[in-house]
Amino acid sequence: MPNSNIAEILKSTLRGEVVQPGDAGYDEARRLYNGMIDKRPRLIARCVDVADVITAVNFGRDNGLLTAIRGGGHNGPGLGSCDDGLVIDLSPMKGITVDPQTHLVQVGPGHSQGDVDHATSAFGLAVPAGIVSSTGIGGLTLGGGHGYLTRRYGLTIDNLVETDVVLADGSFVTADKERHPDLFWALRGGGGNFGVVTRFVFRAHPVTTVYAGPMFWDVKHARKIMQWYREFIPRAPMELTLFFGLKTVPSTDPFPREIWGRKICALICCFDGSPEAGEEELAPIRRELPPAILDAVGEMPFPALQSLFDPLLPPGLQWYWKGDFVKELPDAAIDAHLEHAARAPSELSLMHLYPIDGAVHRVAPDETAWSCRDATWSMVIAGIHPEPAGAEAIRTWGRNYWEAVHPFNLGGAYINFMMEEGDERIHATYGGNYRRLVAVKNKYDPGNFFRVNQNIKPTV
Ligand SMILES: Cc1cc2nc3c(=O)[nH]c(=O)nc-3n(C[C@H](O)[C@H](O)[C@H](O)COP(=O)(O)OP(=O)(O)OC[C@H]3O[C@@H](n4cnc5c(N)ncnc54)[C@H](O)[C@@H]3O)c2cc1C
Repeated sequence: MPNSNIAEILKSTLRGEVVQPGDAGYDEARRLYNGMIDKRPRLIARCVDVADVITAVNFGRDNGLLTAIRGGGHNGPGLGSCDDGLVIDLSPMKGITVDPQTHLVQVGPGHSQGDVDHATSAFGLAVPAGIVSSTGIGGLTLGGGHGYLTRRYGLTIDNLVETDVVLADGSFVTADKERHPDLFWALRGGGGNFGVVTRFVFRAHPVTTVYAGPMFWDVKHARKIMQWYREFIPRAPMELTLFFGLKTVPSTDPFPREIWGRKICALICCFDGSPEAGEEELAPIRRELPPAILDAVGEMPFPALQSLFDPLLPPGLQWYWKGDFVKELPDAAIDAHLEHAARAPSELSLMHLYPIDGAVHRVAPDETAWSCRDATWSMVIAGIHPEPAGAEAIRTWGRNYWEAVHPFNLGGAYINFMMEEGDERIHATYGGNYRRLVAVKNKYDPGNFFRVNQNIKPTV
């Protein structure tokens, strides 16, 4: 059927807007966060409510259209969109309700993590999520979700208590530990494989101000600081999160001009408590490590920390990601990191190690789909460049860096830090949970309608 005809059919049944090639808003509507990805969908269904999502799912399936689900559009390989297919765009589906008594937070699938921080902070609460506020809460949650509150309160999925889901056959279910427990198990880490989540309910925790911010050292100290960090973090209290980075100081405000462009190693700190207690917990850093060239740690509202990096990372930059779960950091791995980080092709390119311990380890590997509960860190190597001309350089750097450190790491990676890397990587990531994920996929999406994702292939 010609596109204009099927678009008309969809338009006549959807409350939200339908955007297609040739429309004035098409380029804006199809744009993704990663400027390296340039997908041209045939139809974009901007759903405004659950009824629209049901309509769009039925429409995509009945017309044999490749169908993608879009939350915040932040996914590295652009799995929130597809070429020549239908995009179910959830961004208009907004609405957050915070219950100050139960600390439960209901969130529409079109929100960013910053929206959730904004809504909850008014109640002195926070939902554990990631470290950049513009990230979509949908994709982040379904992949797992880790950030500053992870050591203390777990992954985002460990704080997910209920979901509404539109399934591949167009039916609507509520899934939690009692209702459709197999689906709820799979949604917690299995990504967008099982249906379109139209409502998330999270458990929030009391968080007001934090003692937080970045500390930088010249890269000449990086070896010593990585060795110190690998010993320190397992002993650090759960209120303290320190993630480690190999980076370059961006040549921009608010960084002091005299350190612009310097290769550095960084500890980004978040102590969830008073500044006095935070100073005490950070004292070993200031006592045992060489003097920092930047120490911007101070008291701030939690949402301010959550959006600290936003100005450096506007939409449209070129991104190439590689990740791994890491259990240990032997000296040989540190040497490989230092060798490759030194060759970073742009100021924004980085390697981060995010702690995956504490509350994450208190959940059994088979309790949710997210199996790698015994990792110590989730590593990301992110090649980031402002210009399309830099795309090849960040890709080559990211791949070479990853090849060098991968032998020291565990087999899988956080799915939200992966490009499209093939079935073997997905297997390795889910480990012992993979077979059960396939069983849930067989039950809820046997035709693999939801396949624009880190795909769990059905076997029926
Ligand atoms: C700058 C930046 C910083 C980041 N920092 C962190 C971090 O600190 N911690 C962390 O855990 N992750 C982080 N991430 C990774 C992030 O979790 C992923 O990029 C994630 O995919 C973003 O979700 P989204 O909704 O924006 O993505 P989209 O591109 O919209 O969607 C990605 C995939 O998620 C699925 N999906 C999204 N919404 C739904 C839904 N409602 N129902 C069903 N499936 C859905 C779909 O399969 C889709 O293919 C970061 C990403 C970026 C770009």
